This record gives sequence, structure tokens and C-alpha cells, in this order.
Amino acid sequence: MAVDQTVASAPPSATHEVNNQAPPLEGVNYFSSHRALVEATEREGGSWVLDRARALGERIGGEPVQWGVQANENPPRLRTHDRYGHRIDEVEFHPAWHELMRLGVQEELHCLPWRDPRPGANVARAALYMTAMQAEAGFACPITMTFAAVPSLRMQPELAELWEPLLTATTYDPRLIPAQEKGSALCGMAMTEKQGGSDVRANTTRARPINGGGPGGEYELIGHKWFCSAPMCDLFLVLAQAEEGLSCFAMPRVLPDGQRNAFHLQRLKDKLGNRSNASSEVEFAGAWARMVGAPGRGVPTIIEMVAHTRLDCVIGTGAGLRWGVMQALHHASHRSAFGRLLIDQPLMRNVLADLCLESEANTLVAMRLARSYDDAPGDEAAQTFKRLATAVSKYWVCKRAPGHAYECLECLGGNGYVEESGLPRLYREAPLASIWEGSGNVMSLDVLRALARDPHSLEVFSGADPRLDRFVTSVREELSHPAELESRARRVVERMALALQGSLVVRHSPPAVADAFCASRLDGDSGLAYGTLPAGLDFGAIIDRHRAAV
Ligand SMILES: Cc1cc2nc3c(=O)[nH]c(=O)nc-3n(C[C@H](O)[C@H](O)[C@H](O)COP(=O)(O)OP(=O)(O)OC[C@H]3O[C@@H](n4cnc5c(N)ncnc54)[C@H](O)[C@@H]3O)c2cc1C
Repeated sequence: MAVDQTVASAPPSATHEVNNQAPPLEGVNYFSSHRALVEATEREGGSWVLDRARALGERIGGEPVQWGVQANENPPRLRTHDRYGHRIDEVEFHPAWHELMRLGVQEELHCLPWRDPRPGANVARAALYMTAMQAEAGFACPITMTFAAVPSLRMQPELAELWEPLLTATTYDPRLIPAQEKGSALCGMAMTEKQGGSDVRANTTRARPINGGGPGGEYELIGHKWFCSAPMCDLFLVLAQAEEGLSCFAMPRVLPDGQRNAFHLQRLKDKLGNRSNASSEVEFAGAWARMVGAPGRGVPTIIEMVAHTRLDCVIGTGAGLRWGVMQALHHASHRSAFGRLLIDQPLMRNVLADLCLESEANTLVAMRLARSYDDAPGDEAAQTFKRLATAVSKYWVCKRAPGHAYECLECLGGNGYVEESGLPRLYREAPLASIWEGSGNVMSLDVLRALARDPHSLEVFSGADPRLDRFVTSVREELSHPAELESRARRVVERMALALQGSLVVRHSPPAVADAFCASRLDGDSGLAYGTLPAGLDFGAIIDRHRAAV
């Protein structure tokens, strides 16, 4: 039989030529390349952080991105007992997790406004947080909870005096020893129980007073929590039933005398995403804790922690949207199909422009929201805005994330479905922020509650464009019909979110972005999927604005 000598003698490498694949996305500054974020940081009062954010943006694109990959490939492991059978209740993490945590703590992502409460501190922190969380979302959880716990702890001044210096320290120390010996500490939150998460009034964990109890007093906690993330934290704010009703408690992992508290880790959750971070089920077998705030006032005490956590859900989701857009634009800029780069194909341009639009609108909202946390003390209008906009944006920004992540993934074709592209990790992470700390329906109902209390608060969403004003009028009209308002809540809140985004985009984004937003999101000239913007818009200008400068 004749043998084709050319094929037989060809070196094996000839079958492994790599053509038409995008190069690695390297050398990007994760802050500077995000123009909408840079502009919003400046506009909302955080210009003093720009140099620092640029330096962080430069750093994030290097090692931290790798740490994110490693921390997900090597998830945390639970060690309930030592070899002799003693309970130890510890979670072991890969070194990459600790590097991410060290970075977050050194960069003051967990504390900047408390350490340096100058004007714009929340905006500055938001800029740093949105930059850093593009490397990996999992470590956002303990960073955010530590940040968010401070205003609630301040409701019990002697506890704040004890813990705030530790929670706002910038040295990271994961050792399980009394916090005072470490010089720094992290804080978690434990509210959700098996029988109820949204409805915390259903909590069954009991709190028995020791020596009389009362605000700041000692209690013994008996019960469980069905979700308790970052269980290696040094302190937890816990809800439990005291005689007077649901109350808030500060519960340390290690007792002041060095013994471990009766805080037993049952299991770690096997989660869809967020795999670098540990989320546990815990039991309190007479755990020692001190009451924060007044007895029976657990929800009002922990509400500030909840609000700050919701703020971070919005900012952190913005980080994911930006990262997805960056990956999609990068791939489309290097991959050709049917004789043209993807980024030059008219239909792909529509998809990319739509994804950019979503990221920009959400970035603007996140940063405006962060500013309201700076302005709120002593400013009633800012307080009203903060209250309403936190719930509205938490609902909408988080709700849009999974679809956005999926569409970014599809821009990479088959490569996007493969783990090492990073897009599957983004996709798995995307639904979490919507569930955590008030899931979709709960947020929508929260908005209705806020509006019922202050019907004029909708005014804070009014904008500066006739298309927008028409839209706000129609939202007002919807709210004026109380019949079945509860079942229409998502629809109303969605429209409020679009009105808020519209008012920001119209005032602050380039005309191409504003026109596309108004046409598609306000005038309804688009379909249900991404990539259904009406023709005739300037897709090129939108895409160029969001393309990372590499
Ligand atoms: C990865 C992860 C980490 C978490 N970490 C923590 C943690 O550290 N600490 C902590 O305390 N919790 C934590 N949670 C729990 C989380 O906050 C709750 O899961 C969430 O608040 C929802 O509560 P639930 O699971 O009990 O659902 P449910 O309250 O039973 O809600 C189920 C569904 O019903 C809807 N719903 C509820 N009430 C209404 C209503 N009145 N009308 C219409 N619909 C309604 C909800 O929107 C939701 O879609 C975590 C969850 C996850 C997934």
C-alpha cells in the first residue's frame, strides 16, 4: 500500500498550530481601563483616591487574578475534630485565599470610611472594591461583613470601643486566638435558620441572660444557624430570641480567656459558586455572647449591617459585570469568523454594546449609591435616597447579573464554556448577590414598604430628560393604584431602577450611551435578550469607551 510520505514524516506539532485564538488578557489596569468607574469616582467625591485606585488596578491584573483561580480550584476544607477527637471547628484555606484576604485588608476594603471618614470615603472605597473584586468575588464576603458590622456595633458603644479598633486594623491575621492578642479581627453575620431566612422573626435560637443580661450584657446562645459564611471570622453578629423578643448579639469565636466558644461547625455548604469562600451550618451549644442594642430590637440593630451589605452586593455585582465585558470585548477583538473580526460583525456589535450599556448603567448607580452613604448623616434627602436606592438597585443590578454573565460567556463561543476562561466561575457566582441579604421578592417588598412610609421619596429619582420624566410619571401612575400592588412589586421596582439608571446615564454618560439606554430601557425599543438594541445607534462609540486599553 502506498504511504503518503508528507503526512508520515510531518512533525506531530503540525497538528497543534494555534491560530485565531485571543492572546491572554494581560497588562490591563483594572481601574483606569474602566472609564465609567474613573469618571464616577471623581464626580461623586472620591477624586482623592484616584492615584491609589490606579495603583490597585495595576496590581489586580497580576498575581491576584491567579490567586482567584487557585482559591477556587482548592476550596476550603472543614476540620471538625483533631486526631484525638477534640472538637476544633476549623476551616483550612489555600494560601491563595489568605493572599486575597491580606490584599483586601491592606487596601482597607473592609474599613476605609471608618478609619478615614472624610467626604467621599464611601465612594473611594467603592472604587477600590469594584476594582479588587474583579480578581475574585469569594473574598468579598468576609471583607464586606467586617465593613458592614461597624455601624451596628456602634449601637453598643462599649462593644464598639473593644472591637472597632480590631475590625478596622489593616493587618490580616487568620490565627484562631483571642482577638486582642492578634491586633486585628474579622466579623461575620448569622441570621438565617433552617425554618426561615427572609423571615428572621421565625428564628428559634434562644438567648439566656447571664448575670441579668440587658444591652451589653452577657448571654448564652443555644440553637443553630443554617447559613453562616466565613466561619473563621473572629466575631459574629447573631440574631437570637431573648425574653423580650428577637435581639442582636456579638459572639466571639474565641473567648477572652483563650478557650474556644461553643460554636460548632456542622458542615460546609456545597455551593453552586462562591467556592473559594466557606459557608457553614453551625450550632451554638451555649455559646457566650453579649447583647448589642436594646433587648427585642434585633432587627433595627442589625439593619445598618444589612444595608451596608446590600450596598456591597451592588458594587460587587458591578465588578462582575465589568470583568465579563472586558473578557467579551477582548475575545471579540481578536477572534475572526466568516472573514471578519467578531467585534466588526454588526450583530456582535449589538450584543457587545448592550453588555457595555448594562455595565455602565450599573457602575453609575453603584457609585451614586455609595455617595449617598457619605451624604446621609445629617442630610434628610440623602437618607431618603439611600434607603430607597439601596433596595431598588440591590434588586435590579443583582437580578441582571446572571443573564449578563451568560451572554459575556457566549461571546467567547465554546471557549467561554470552558473553565479556564474564567467565565463559568463568573456565571456560577452571578446569582448569589441576588439571594443573599434579601432575595428578589424580599427587596421588592422592601421598596413598597419604604414608599408607603414616605410616598414622596420617589421624587429623588426624577431626572433631567423628557423621556425620563415621562417614564417617572408612568411609575408614579403605577404606584397610585394600590390594587394588587404587592404582586406587581417587581415590575414597579424594575421601572424605578431603570428611572434611576436613566437619570444618571442621561446626565453623565456620553450621548451614544445615553441614547442607547433611553431607546432600549426606557422607550422599550429592544427585545428581551441582550443584543436587541435598535439599529441606528452608535455601537462603536459605546464599545470603544468600554474596551480595555491594552
Ligand atoms: C452562599 C450563601 C451564603 C450565605 N451566607 C449567609 C450568612 O453568612 N449569614 C446569614 O445569616 N445568611 C446567609 N445566607 C442566607 C441568605 O441570606 C438566605 O438564603 C436568604 O436571605 C433567603 O432566605 P431563605 O434561604 O430562608 O429563603 P426564604 O426566606 O424561604 O425565601 C425563599 C423564596 O421566597 C421568597 N419570599 C420570601 N418571602 C416572601 C414574600 N413575603 N413574598 C414573596 N416571596 C417571598 C424569597 O424571595 C425567595 O425567593 C447565605 C446564603 C447563601 C446562598
